[in-house]
Amino acid sequence: MKAGDMIQVTITGISHQGHGIGRCDNIVVFVPGAMLGETVEALVVEYKKKMATAQLQRLIVPSPERIDARCPQSSQCGGCELQHCSYAYQLQAKQKIVADAMQRLGRITTPVEPVIGMQTPWRYRNKGIFHADYSDGAVRLGFYEQGSHSFVPAADCQLFSEAMNGLVAHLEDLIQNSGRAYYIHKVMIRESAYNGDMMVVFVTQEAAWRLPELAEQLIAYPGVVSVYHNINSNLKIMLGRQFRLLAGQETIEDTIGDFHFQISPQSFFQINNQQAHVLYQKVLEYAQLTGQEQVADIYCGIGTISLYLAQQAKAVIGIESIGQAVQDAKENAKRNQDERCTFVAAKAEDWLPKWAKQGNQLDVAVIDPPRKGCETPVLDALITSGAKRIVYVSCNPSTLARDAKYLCQYGYEVKAVQPVDLFCQSWHVECVVLMSKKDK
Ligand code: SAH
Repeated sequence: MKAGDMIQVTITGISHQGHGIGRCDNIVVFVPGAMLGETVEALVVEYKKKMATAQLQRLIVPSPERIDARCPQSSQCGGCELQHCSYAYQLQAKQKIVADAMQRLGRITTPVEPVIGMQTPWRYRNKGIFHADYSDGAVRLGFYEQGSHSFVPAADCQLFSEAMNGLVAHLEDLIQNSGRAYYIHKVMIRESAYNGDMMVVFVTQEAAWRLPELAEQLIAYPGVVSVYHNINSNLKIMLGRQFRLLAGQETIEDTIGDFHFQISPQSFFQINNQQAHVLYQKVLEYAQLTGQEQVADIYCGIGTISLYLAQQAKAVIGIESIGQAVQDAKENAKRNQDERCTFVAAKAEDWLPKWAKQGNQLDVAVIDPPRKGCETPVLDALITSGAKRIVYVSCNPSTLARDAKYLCQYGYEVKAVQPVDLFCQSWHVECVVLMSKKDK
């Protein structure tokens, strides 16, 4: 097989990125966009190490679960790789992606529960980061095609509310009319699902003197309550460290379930409010609290999970590395009148081992790390702390499986695996896993 060959392949598996996998001449072939059970004609674009990637050309036997994508750009922009799949298929595919990772990387055979889906899996995103494009003399905001710098306009993105799409169109005009605003590199928008308030963050590579004028005009737009400037010269990351308030309020307010949260621009907040509630309820259920437990919420962000847990725990300690998020968390505990929560601004891998070494014990630990998973010292400290239960929340099944395998080697077992669909139409999947300490 070589690049340029046209092949026929039947799809028998799904990769962790939702791509179809088949075999041809005993070579594993990845076909983005092809679905389980389909037979397709595809053009080989890359072949190395006995693995090939091929571009879907023609459906010979289509899947009955194949549907028309809502958005004409879905195959380009990279945000909705699964729009051409029925929602039922999307949920089954994600269950399989999680089960494959747990078995292959974690040697864990605990059955994976069916994915909890969203009733209306559209217009759920409360945050977007848009790249600015200045080609053809027009200002457009949108996304880059996956793995490239080809620009795709945001247009009427089906994952955002109509209000957010309206603001994107307004911003394009505003930037265009402001004259020398071409230094704006990206724009981040957050929209509160609670009251519709919107926060806008302009990202530039250098300090930009025209932005205050722009902010003054923008704050007059309905719904916009906060405008920031972020300076980021590192193109490999989305946002820099430095945020400067240009107009309006410092934070926006949002809710998950019955809890109210203030959110600063640099703080993490789940992008799907409705499904975050489902996720956090599952965390609370798996924690099996009676009101007597000392609980840790590690990688706690603005204290969302901490507040859910505090309803039924004796005390919750939250650990988070971003100082401003910890400030939000403290404020949020006050706002929700919860005195059982305390928060620490520190890296989990620095703080937790010291804390456990001092003889502090935990009954239950919740961990919700970023995509790269937990550093080993965090897992070791959890083992030392004697936690009876560990509830692992993860947005990356591969690192979840790796870390769960490690914990299983040191006395824990996986009792339940529950994926929740927070990222409908994309291949991303969120999971809650219950691990219990084995009886000796
Ligand atoms: N549990 C929260 C946040 C989860 S996202 C929620 O549901 O909203 C992961 C969080 O871990 C982010 O807030 C990130 O800032 C934080 N984080 C990343 N690396 C960390 C580290 N080494 N130590 C502590 N927190 C970290």
